Amino acid sequence: MKPIAVAIDGPSGAGKSTIARAVAARLGFVYVDTGAMYRTIGLAVCRAGVPLGDTAGILPVLPGLSVSLRYQDGVQHVLLGGEDVSDYIRTPEMSKYASFVSAVPEVRAFLLDTQRDMARTHSVVMDGRDIGTVILPDAAVKIFLTASPEARAQRRYLELRQKGETVTQDEVLADMRQRDRDDSTRAQAPLRQAADAVLVDTSELTLEQSMDAVEAVIRRTLEGQR
Ligand code: C5P
Repeated sequence: MKPIAVAIDGPSGAGKSTIARAVAARLGFVYVDTGAMYRTIGLAVCRAGVPLGDTAGILPVLPGLSVSLRYQDGVQHVLLGGEDVSDYIRTPEMSKYASFVSAVPEVRAFLLDTQRDMARTHSVVMDGRDIGTVILPDAAVKIFLTASPEARAQRRYLELRQKGETVTQDEVLADMRQRDRDDSTRAQAPLRQAADAVLVDTSELTLEQSMDAVEAVIRRTLEGQR
């Protein structure tokens, strides 16, 4: 059977990863978190001593990099070289580095094949910013998942606090607005809703309701295609 692709795009904090992961498990599809790949390149660039903003400094780091995914008990791990860096990429600093490196065309080109290969070989729920528009323009289902900046900042704040990060809600909201601006105004694959994507706004929904809403859109769309 031909693999089925579900593309979920949207701004940070809309619940994409959590929802995409859960829905992938319900459907028996592989979950691909492309943000983790950008974060991993951000980590490599940071470790190489390249400061934020030094775009020219990114290019020499790329040729030596290998970013791959491994699945353990259904959980995605991202490897840099052979090292599992999944635990190091979820900090506010790596969010900034991910956003910084993701604006560079060479970085996007570097990850494109890995992302498309996953969808060629497996039925996937892939989340990111440009999955429905650039990476998988023929995806069977496209969803644009969003929520108000305040709702997204509140969720991210609670998540970071739980991990012991010392941040204020205002800082999280400011970072989020900045990242939204950077992601949607960049020249390369800006964040935007694909013309054929279904919009799901989770501002007023609980996590469980959001998952149900996304699953319902996917099942309905796939049914309609039979
Ligand atoms: O989704 P996550 O917050 O982990 O993504 C981190 C950053 O990586 C985003 O802010 C965005 O700049 C970038 N990204 C991207 N394209 C993707 C996924 C993530 O540009 N497909």
